[in-house]
Amino acid sequence: MKKCILLMSFILIPLGFTYGQRVEKEFTTSSFKALGAPNTPAVEIAWNRYYDWEEIGDICRRIARAYPDLARLSSIGESVQGKDIYLLTITNFDQGDSDRKPGMYIDGNIHSNELQGAEVSMYTAWFLTENYDEVDWIRDLLDHKVFYIVPTINPDARDHYIHQPNTPHSPRSGLLPRDDDGDGLKDEDGYDDLDGDGNIVRMRKRDPNGRWKPDPEDPRLMVRADQDEPGSYTMLGWEGLDNDGDGRVNEDRPGFYDPNRNWGWNWQPSYVQYGSDHYPFSIPENRAVAEFVLAHPNIAAAQSYHNSGGMILRGPGAEDDTETFNRSDLEVYDFLGELGEQMLPGYRYLVVYKDLYSAYGGEVDWFYGARGIFTFTNELWTSFNYFRGRWDEEDMRSGQRQVYRFDELLLFKEGIVSWKKVQHPQYGEIEIGGIKKAWTRTPPSFMLEDMCHRNMAFTLYNAYHLPRLTVDSVAVKNLPGNLQQVDVIVSNSRVVPSRSAHERRNEITPPDHIGISGENATVVAGFRVEDPYLNITEEQPHHPERLAIESVPGMGTVHVRWLLFGQGPYTIIIDSNKGGHVTARIEG
Ligand SMILES: [Zn+2]
Repeated sequence: MKKCILLMSFILIPLGFTYGQRVEKEFTTSSFKALGAPNTPAVEIAWNRYYDWEEIGDICRRIARAYPDLARLSSIGESVQGKDIYLLTITNFDQGDSDRKPGMYIDGNIHSNELQGAEVSMYTAWFLTENYDEVDWIRDLLDHKVFYIVPTINPDARDHYIHQPNTPHSPRSGLLPRDDDGDGLKDEDGYDDLDGDGNIVRMRKRDPNGRWKPDPEDPRLMVRADQDEPGSYTMLGWEGLDNDGDGRVNEDRPGFYDPNRNWGWNWQPSYVQYGSDHYPFSIPENRAVAEFVLAHPNIAAAQSYHNSGGMILRGPGAEDDTETFNRSDLEVYDFLGELGEQMLPGYRYLVVYKDLYSAYGGEVDWFYGARGIFTFTNELWTSFNYFRGRWDEEDMRSGQRQVYRFDELLLFKEGIVSWKKVQHPQYGEIEIGGIKKAWTRTPPSFMLEDMCHRNMAFTLYNAYHLPRLTVDSVAVKNLPGNLQQVDVIVSNSRVVPSRSAHERRNEITPPDHIGISGENATVVAGFRVEDPYLNITEEQPHHPERLAIESVPGMGTVHVRWLLFGQGPYTIIIDSNKGGHVTARIEG
């Protein structure tokens, strides 16, 4: 079907040209540049549709080929079905060691049906590379920071969602086969597309004793009958059969586990946390991400994309984990979250356990809990977008009515399957109809690029505020006996500290170091200066030439002092996992 459509558009495009003539570039520099996008990008990508795994790989390859000095394509591992989990590393590779720069990790699509996280991720890689030469702010960002972008961490089930009949909510799981109903068989009773239209919708049966009725405002929508009113239909769940004859319909679908309940932080067995699977990181795609993150201690911030609801979420996922989040880290989270609320109209900055639901073993919690990485999950797409807040929720009586009204007014009824009769082997004559899989969780074409851009901007500001460490000021003083006292102040001109309070408290990562070396000098003593005015210092007796530092605070400084026998010049070396590797030469 898809190939057929592609072929048709190929035939249609050359109208007005000589047949067979190749159009090299459809747009020229004479078009007036709309701000916020490259006018003549090296890689043309339509940001008004959704791409499957093969197309994602193709887009990643095109970006990497067009910008070899800014983008590199690799794979962090393989999915259950052997698909590469693509990684685009985006930075200025000509400046500094890329894996020593403060890093921002971004992934999408852990829940396979939550499709658009992959598009936002790829848009980010595309936007950064296309704008490096054009926008000073982007150039500075890529000179000093590195992005690790994994568009989909659930490629098998992404393709299942796209190419197989599904609801807007399935598969969600990955595709490791599991026996959901305990009958010894795996994945033997999934949905069934009774009319072959590619959508799994609802089943209803006429029933004078049923408690449901068509909504008087839009008969395509089913609503509950009033309490004192007879209904006309019984609802029978999602389109499907009892495939294995056990008296249940659709009870053992592909999967099922929830990949976002399987991470090795506050993991709970499935009788406590539904979908957690057999043990933490039993799911290979999650393990690949964790191993990549463990091998990249420069990752200081992370972002995962889900849908939907218009949320900027932080952990903890469970109330019993609140103490992990201490005050100084929360100030950083709040700063970034509130910034996000400005950029993302209709989105709210929320805490998972408090404002959403309890979830153990979530990705967002592992990143922060196990690695001290400031991490957000954005729930992309919000009902605010239907009528941009112009429609009073009270008037609509229910969110569903807005969904149907938007479908009628702006999608011209493309988003919903009208009720139609089918014969069902178990239920007899029934009707099927309702919301298509492409509607309600993913934006329609004309709103997708806006969503990509605004969410990307949120992550770019997060990356911008990763530590930027510099040798701020130096004072060299000659002392008697061929000694020199060297005072160095290292500053961080961004909001995120070089180590989060959580990782300092739990010693998750080694401390930062500030060192000094000089060919003509020997270090006699080294101090952390706590108060230069009152001359309060703390000496580091062992290896004074390399002073261990707890952290360089956000928008803050660290003051160190050495006594050296001899004289300069000296080299100052700042060595921080998440703050980067900086050297500065000073005269003495
Ligand atoms: Zn999700």
